[in-house]
Amino acid sequence: MAIERTFSIIKPDATRRNITGKIIAKIEEAGLRVVASKRIHMSLKVAQGFYAVHAARPFYGELTEQMSAGPVVVQVLEGENAITKYREIMGATNPANAAEGTIRKDFALSIGENSVHGSDAPETAAQEIKYFFADTEIVG
Ligand code: ADP
Ligand code: MG
Repeated sequence: MAIERTFSIIKPDATRRNITGKIIAKIEEAGLRVVASKRIHMSLKVAQGFYAVHAARPFYGELTEQMSAGPVVVQVLEGENAITKYREIMGATNPANAAEGTIRKDFALSIGENSVHGSDAPETAAQEIKYFFADTEIVG
């Protein structure tokens, strides 16, 4: 198995409820290492750029408004099979379908306010990391 890096966002619904530590604990317990981290407040423009792939979806307006409505914690996670592993511990997009013990099962409020983002493939991981972090900010 390869050591990979993936990109994570702890979303505004989670920062608002002061549960960033609980989410990071689950990430670390799964064997992933936080190699970059910062708390930021995205502008609507930054959120729109990040989710440009979803621009045609009916939920795009709601999604980009929610993502820019409060602070988030953006992180780079490193570990074996990090991309797939993080998707597994996040759980399904809709918390109603998320497996027991996953972040979304335990913490998500709804399909929109689902507490975390994680990259879905190596190409998107590289792209998303670059959108928020300079190489010098990632310390493995
Ligand atoms: P994931 O975050 O699991 O990769 P998607 O990439 O399909 O899911 O969607 C991006 C985000 O858009 C989701 O995490 C969620 O916040 C929001 N979203 C997806 N589908 C819906 C929906 N049907 N209604 C409202 N928001 C949605
Ligand atoms: Mg996605």
